[in-house]
Amino acid sequence: MTDQYQAFAKSPIGKLVIKNLGLPSPTFLERFESVTPVVKGAVLLGAAPASTLSGAIAQILANIHANSYAGNNTELQQAAAQSGLNLNAFNDGDKESKFKAVIFDASGIQNSEQLHSLYAFFKPIARQIQASGRVIVVGITPETAKTVKQAIAQRALEGFVKSVGKEFKKGIAAQLVYVDDGAQANLESTLRFVLSSRSAYVSGQVIRVSQANTVEIDWAKPLAGKTAVVTGASRGIGEAIAHVLSRDGAHVICLDVPQQQADLDRVAAEIGGSTLAIDITAPDAGEKIKAAAVAQGGLDIIVHNAGITRDKTLANMKPELWDLVININLSAIERVNDYLLANDGLNSNGRIICVSSISGIAGNLGQTNYAASKAGVIGVVKFTAPLLKNGVTINAVAPGFIETQMTAAIPFAIREAGRRMNSMSQGGLPVDVAETIALFASSASTGLNGNVVRVCGQSLLGA
Ligand code: NAD
Repeated sequence: MTDQYQAFAKSPIGKLVIKNLGLPSPTFLERFESVTPVVKGAVLLGAAPASTLSGAIAQILANIHANSYAGNNTELQQAAAQSGLNLNAFNDGDKESKFKAVIFDASGIQNSEQLHSLYAFFKPIARQIQASGRVIVVGITPETAKTVKQAIAQRALEGFVKSVGKEFKKGIAAQLVYVDDGAQANLESTLRFVLSSRSAYVSGQVIRVSQANTVEIDWAKPLAGKTAVVTGASRGIGEAIAHVLSRDGAHVICLDVPQQQADLDRVAAEIGGSTLAIDITAPDAGEKIKAAAVAQGGLDIIVHNAGITRDKTLANMKPELWDLVININLSAIERVNDYLLANDGLNSNGRIICVSSISGIAGNLGQTNYAASKAGVIGVVKFTAPLLKNGVTINAVAPGFIETQMTAAIPFAIREAGRRMNSMSQGGLPVDVAETIALFASSASTGLNGNVVRVCGQSLLGA
């Protein structure tokens, strides 16, 4: 689906019209091109006094060879020295330097008065962040704070980050990462993701990192030796997921209904994967998924992407449309998960990744069935996460407006509104959803469990 407005906005006449009428101006978003460099430009590092995560952050910046800067901050300089990070000096008040990413360690903030350190760090450099840049605030999970005052101050970070995401424009994305006590060692996959162009269409999100076993991985091929099943893989978002997981090293079993066999064969051939042509609502779907994966060494990753819409206002909705959507989008996922978890269907450190929707967060006219199913998917993640063992995790992505056949079918005016009502003023691409799924799929992401991350360009819906 082409975005003609975006093409128009890039033309000289389009730029003039957009400026004069105050219309939304979609910026070009940088997307993943190569594994290195993770950040294409300088990274500015800051920290509130007595912060505890700067060492872990500095270590990750050293690992990715980031060109890192910091102002006159002794604690940061010590953390950098211990991590082997070469920290360049940034002179406060220098208006010439530009940064591709700015990271602030807010873990030391103990009360609301100390939130001033956040303001004091970001205010002077607010205009010095480059297009497609990143603002990342790292805090401690409020629920694990030692005092109520600390919990309140840490919770306040969310409003700051979400406002920055809306204010900074130019394709700059802002994220908040909450780290549980003792989970510093689990931060790397998340920080690499939010720093890189893989997170182009993810903004205003909160990612929670908990303590878990750490695994050494090859960051260039984080899924090497893994077997993944992707449902609904013959087109759209599922096709992009299959490509990205394969790029990251996984053998991908592409699953879709038998009617999609030709496209399924095409996608599998493109990525050297295999196919499984079944309907996920079949009672034996879990068994067949397990059997197909066992033939490849066992299942490491299942991505529940297949989904449908059958939109009607509730007053006009036939019972079969209600049942069909709930069955494919929600009940089938529950049944497959139940089977896999009850029958040793997932290898240790396995991954279950669901595809929800912002419709499941915000609700949508004509989508009582779809929104119920997608809110239910968030329920699957929330209530399954605490039950999992052996390093198995479950997380979800909640896409906003993504350019696919599904959104091409939306009536023009609603489609245009959906495309523009976000901080990036454009729809996302299937690859944006796929990259976020790849974050959860990574063997290094055992500390991510129970997260729901929106891939919506910070859509106003349900924000
Ligand atoms: P799509 O219609 O292009 O692709 C969905 C795929 O799922 C199709 O190949 C279809 O054959 C397959 N499928 C449907 N029912 C199935 C079944 N019973 N068994 C096996 N396969 C089945 O849709 P898409 O836009 O790529 O969406 C993928 C997922 O993303 C869906 O879960 C959708 O709800 C979700 N989503 C999409 C958007 C968007 O903007 N496109 C937004 C939010 C959420």
